[in-house]
Formats: sequence, C-alpha cells, structure tokens
Amino acid sequence: MRFISTRGAKPTTAAETIVQGICPKGGLYVPETFPVVSLKELAACPDYCALAAKILSLYLTETPYEELLSMTRKAYASFDDAEVVPLHPLYETEQVMELWHGPTMAFKDVALQLLPHLMTDSLRRTGSKEKAYILVATSGDTGKAALEGFCGVEDTRVLVFYPHGGVSEAQRLQMVTQTGANTDVCAINGNFDDAQTAVKRIFGSDRMRRAVKEKGYRLSSANSINFGRLVPQIVYYFSAYLTMIKNGALTVGDRINFCVPTGNFGDILAGYYAMRMGLPVKKLIVASNRNNVLTDFFREGVYDANRTFHRSMSCSIDILISSNLERLLFLVNGEDAARTEDQMRKLKETGRYEITQQQRAELERVFYADWCTEEDTLKTIRRVYDDRGYLMDPHTAVGQTILERYKEQTQDETPAVLLSTANPYKFATAVLGAFETAGEDDFENARRLTEYTGVPVPTPFATLKSRPQRHFGRIGLDEIEQRVLEPLD
Ligand SMILES: *Cc1c(COP(=O)(O)O)cnc(C)c1O
Repeated sequence: MRFISTRGAKPTTAAETIVQGICPKGGLYVPETFPVVSLKELAACPDYCALAAKILSLYLTETPYEELLSMTRKAYASFDDAEVVPLHPLYETEQVMELWHGPTMAFKDVALQLLPHLMTDSLRRTGSKEKAYILVATSGDTGKAALEGFCGVEDTRVLVFYPHGGVSEAQRLQMVTQTGANTDVCAINGNFDDAQTAVKRIFGSDRMRRAVKEKGYRLSSANSINFGRLVPQIVYYFSAYLTMIKNGALTVGDRINFCVPTGNFGDILAGYYAMRMGLPVKKLIVASNRNNVLTDFFREGVYDANRTFHRSMSCSIDILISSNLERLLFLVNGEDAARTEDQMRKLKETGRYEITQQQRAELERVFYADWCTEEDTLKTIRRVYDDRGYLMDPHTAVGQTILERYKEQTQDETPAVLLSTANPYKFATAVLGAFETAGEDDFENARRLTEYTGVPVPTPFATLKSRPQRHFGRIGLDEIEQRVLEPLD
C-alpha cells in the first residue's frame, strides 16, 4: 500500500508515512486506496490482537503479519480488560464500547500504546540514521497517552505541549508526573488550537527540520494527523460489529450505527474508513459540545472557525480546527488535492471554507451531526446512572445525548454503538457535578463519587497525587521553537 497527501505529493511507503507523521509540504497522508475486507475472514480472527494485526497488515503491507501480531500483543497487554475494548449493553438497541481500558484511562491508548512499536519498526524500515523527535499538542488525553506509550522507547524522544488551564487537574498531574529520560512536558499560554497550530507550523518549517536534523533527530507526530494513529482505531469498529454478531445482537450483513464524541475528527474518521473497507455502517453520528463547528459544517456545508472558543467539561473535544476533517474533505473532493489545498489555504487565511450543496448532501447520507450544552451533558450522566446504574464521563455523555436525539428525530432503531472515550474518574469533578455540588479538588471529588456510586477509584488515578511532579515549564506561543530545540543541546 502506498500513501498520498491530501494536498498532493509523491506517493510514499507506510514506513515513511508513519515516521514523517505529517507531509512536510503540508497535507495529511491518506491511503491510495481502501483495502476491501471480507467480514467472514475477519470473524475467523481468534482475538482482538489478531484482528488488529490483520487490519494493520492491509495498510502496512511491508511489515509481515507475524511482526504486527507481536506488536499488537505487546501493546494491548497493558489493557486491564482481556477484550481490550469491551462492549457494555446499555439499552435494547444500544451498546457502549469502552475504549478506555488502557494505562491512561482514555481512548487515545488504543492507538498510542501501539504507535511506538510502529514507529521503531518504521524507522528501521526507512533506514533512518536519525532518531524520532515526537512533538505533541494535547487537549488533555493525547499528551499522557503519548508519554506513556513512548516512555523508554529506543531512538525516540517526545515533547508534549498542553494548554495552561485547559486540562483537568487529573490530566495535568498525569502529564507532569511522567517519568523517563526521553519524555518532556511543557504548558503553553494559549488553547489547544494555538498549540496544535504552533506544532504544525514547526512541522512545516524547513529551518526547524534542519536544526533538529543537525542534532541527529527527525520530527514526527503522535497526534491523529499521523496515519499510524488512525489505523489502530479502524480496528475497534470491526471488533464491535463482530462481537455483536457473536452475541446475536446482529447477523452478518446487518447495518450498524456508531455515535462518536468528536473533536479532531480522528476517531470518527476511522469509522468512515472502516465503512469504506466494507463494514456495513448506516450512520456515523458526530457528537459535539458547544464548540459546534462540525455540526454547522455537516448541516450547512460551511466550515467556519471564526467563533468563540468555549472551555467545557468535555475538554478533549474543545476544538475549533478539526484536523482530520481534511482527510474526509479530500475524499469528498474526489481526491482532488489542488481543491483541498485551496480550501485549507482559505481556512488558514480566513478561518472559513465551503463545500458545494451537492457534497453536503452526499455527506448527509452517512453523517448526522449535532451538539449539546453543558446542562444536557450533566443531565445525561445523571439520567443514565439513575436508569441503568452506568457511569459515563462527560465526552461519552455528549455522545449519548446526541445519539438519543438522533433516534428521537429519525425513529431509526438500527443497533447503535456509542464510543465511550474516557473512564468517568478521569473527569471526576465534572461527573460528580451531575449528582451534587462538586468542590475544587479532583481527588476529593473522586472519593465522593465513589461513595455515591460504589464504583471504586481506578488505581492509576488514586496514586496520582502522591507521585512527584517533574515538569514545571510554561511558555508563550512565541517561545515554542526555542523550547523544541533546547533539550537537544
Ligand atoms: C481525544 C478525545 C476525543 C476526541 O477524539 P478525536 O479523534 O479528536 O475526535 C473524545 N473523547 C476523549 C476523552 C478524548 O480524549
């Protein structure tokens, strides 16, 4: 399989694609075609790791299946559930897929426990003399998952930028207590979009690439702009479907809906890729919070980032520049790179671009989009807990709210899977607020939440406060380049 860029570039190998992370000329790498799979063949995979290796092997064609299998086994050994991404039946026609059983308790682990293995394999395959220097912009969860994944991995170092005041206290502590000689964390004065834009600018800078290369490194990304992040996420869409067939919730060929709380559009894009590979998906439901730029895009065909940025309790989807939408746009444009590049230039210069009404109508056949308020989110957490005894984090609750609204509006009773993207204790303060007035302290709130629900505080969270903090830096946006080069001296 070869990879091309959404803005045009010579096709390249999977290994180059993963090592580079983002196309140096701008644009995101996408597969040249979608491999079509047989569900029957996938159903023969004995477990999640085998299924993952099988799907990876269709894209990363240079790496033998056995090697991929050994990587997926190592990656998912850190998960606390043998099924890796277990399904929890919630209502008659709805199951929740819990993607947060990895070490950092958020769905990013599914990709980021695997990416370091793919990265070292890819470095070897490209014959790179340089080590990989991974720059990450995080809205909270990617940062810790990348640190955890790359910690101690040979020939790599990782630097995470997070928005000061823009992540939960637990998320912050997870990052600043990170150990490992190759890991580094720094706060920035700005929001996630600022951090992501600054990091993307560094990837696009020849001067920075040269400066880093002189020190024996090449820049790479662990954000979902890296195709190596996307492909592990395709797997769980198939896994959910196959599990539901095994459980009798579906028969082969039945269609399925997925609802996904979305920010950077990576998670849900993987679902669309799964559909293009042959998974019988009916609707992909795009769930947003007040930062509803995607809702407006799908409804009106206009992407307009010129709006107020809201900090919400579902902070990992507080995003106005949704990077992976570019990959969908490229497909909607009939793989026209010049047109995609033009739209992205408009986005950069004016914060806005449009698609045609015909394109919008085409998207509407697959995607349904909506958003909800903070109050809706809290009500949903409370109601689902009262009705079903199931505790959801705020991101999952945004998804649940929109899924219910979709069903009400369309009367569509197709079996649906809600992607649950974080352990509720990772956002204990917000979750407790659904039941009673929460205090300032995340940990005290987690304790109270336990009292209320009887669900124990997960160990990685419980020990967080007693771990020594190691990373204290906080810089302005104009200091990012210098901060990237500093540790290499
Ligand atoms: C990252 C994240 C999301 C959004 O994923 P995207 O791929 O950016 O759409 C949703 N929920 C949680 C908890 C996350 O960490």
